[in-house]
Amino acid sequence: MSHTRSDLKSPPPLPKGGLRIVPLGGLGEIGRNMTVFEHEGRLLIVDCGVLFPEEHQPGVDVILPDFTWIRDRLDKIEAIVLTHGHEDHIGGVPYLLKERADIPLVGSQLTLAFIEAKLKEHRIRPKTVQVAEGDRQKFGPFDIEFMAVNHSIPDGLAVAIRTKAGLVLNTGDFKMDQFPLDKRITDLRAFARLGAEGVDLFMADSTNAEVPGFTTSEQDLAPAIDQVFRTAPRRIIVSSFASHVHRIQQVLDAAHEHGRKVAFVGRSMVRNMGIARDLGYLHVPRGLVVDFKSLEGMPDNKVTLIATGSQGEPMAALARMANGDHEIRIGEGDTVLLASSLIPGNENAIYRVINGLTLLGANVVHKGNAKVHVSGHASAGELVYCYNIIKPRHVLPIHGESRHLRSNANLAIQTGVAPKCALVAEDGMVLDLVGGKVSITGRVAAGLVYVDGMTVGTVTEESLSDRRALAEDGVVTIVALIDPDTGILSEDPDFLTRGFVHDAASFDALIPVIKETLAKAARDGVHDFGELERLIDRAVSRWFQRTSRRAPVIIPVVIEA
Ligand SMILES: [Zn+2]
Repeated sequence: MSHTRSDLKSPPPLPKGGLRIVPLGGLGEIGRNMTVFEHEGRLLIVDCGVLFPEEHQPGVDVILPDFTWIRDRLDKIEAIVLTHGHEDHIGGVPYLLKERADIPLVGSQLTLAFIEAKLKEHRIRPKTVQVAEGDRQKFGPFDIEFMAVNHSIPDGLAVAIRTKAGLVLNTGDFKMDQFPLDKRITDLRAFARLGAEGVDLFMADSTNAEVPGFTTSEQDLAPAIDQVFRTAPRRIIVSSFASHVHRIQQVLDAAHEHGRKVAFVGRSMVRNMGIARDLGYLHVPRGLVVDFKSLEGMPDNKVTLIATGSQGEPMAALARMANGDHEIRIGEGDTVLLASSLIPGNENAIYRVINGLTLLGANVVHKGNAKVHVSGHASAGELVYCYNIIKPRHVLPIHGESRHLRSNANLAIQTGVAPKCALVAEDGMVLDLVGGKVSITGRVAAGLVYVDGMTVGTVTEESLSDRRALAEDGVVTIVALIDPDTGILSEDPDFLTRGFVHDAASFDALIPVIKETLAKAARDGVHDFGELERLIDRAVSRWFQRTSRRAPVIIPVVIEA
């Protein structure tokens, strides 16, 4: 069953005893995961993440979920439950806490440590409630049980939410690695127990629903990583997400084994690895990790650098290395180990970076040429196992683009979930669990909220379209001197351009267009300069579109002569 954007309005009041489930992000994109639960007038939030911008969103730092729907009820929020410490699950928390600082944050030890470090940079000291797998705790009318799940960051939790309306199980991000480094496997026994109790709604990670079979174990990467350390002639530069503690553990182990020293590079890498080490999630042999600076005098074949970007995202740092504007200067004979995914949709950008590094003389080892990465998400085989173990009454695929959600729903249907109970929804859709049935009852605002520098929500779709136009076709400023008495041009307009390609005669044909626009405005009695500027903008844009199929940003400036 699926609904489209257009046929849904704001939802009716929630029937007494019902549970309302509103995904504000993560359905239709990989990122900004956030679901709001409403029951007996109280709210519970699971995850509050950011989405990273793509090339068509220039200048945007991160994208947030839209908080409009909960903004006038912030005092009703019992807690924000964080399933794990990835940016797409915790990155939005500072922005929500800026609206109400004392919302309790609930999560595992590592998750809370990561979010607290992040909030410190925003000068926010949060209220926290630390939980662990096996715990069960009440937050207002929400009775929550936490279960271990295995993912590409340690200490992930799935959450079961019991209310008078029924039982909801949210996997968070997970996979079913049977041999993880920390031996902490996804708690399928708990999933089975919940299934026996009766799961009314199962919300399952869809990221890899299109990938057949099972996600390979982290352990299977060891030979390829070892191979890199055995054969690299000079320095090894590893780029990874700053939160992938287990992947970094494998790199540390290999470096130790092969007698290399390691330095962490990048603020979030240094910070997170410090936290992971202090809390016992990362085991660092004595003397292995040193300061970046102290590696300077060391022979290249004794050096390992583990780097990440400013958002804890590896590609940003690698792109800067490829451009030669990073503190790590890539040279002939260096080996770059890209121990992370090639994010779908960004392949071109990634291969551009790999090519750049190659031109600088590096040997780049990546997912495409060696087994140095496995996904952190369950593949189709694992998801099917979950459906068969849990036997949920309804399924809401989460965490994925539309195609991932659809594939995940299809897997559920294959295991016997009724097609009308496998709900493919979108951000902002309202699902009500009432009398054991889940139905889509409306939709609320769930647009993309752009963060640019210090501003939140100031950048709009229109500003982004201007930025794209600037990048594509540049800008044309038209200065029109107008006789205030007649309202017509007192001389030919001036044209100033940036990034717009033209020759001397380019604008000759445009002058009569502007003249005619202003003459018509004068005849119609339009005198307001702002209005005249809008008319010029419209006429000139249309002219460019018709004559050259170009769409520069037009800035008309009308001045009194
Ligand atoms: Zn994750």
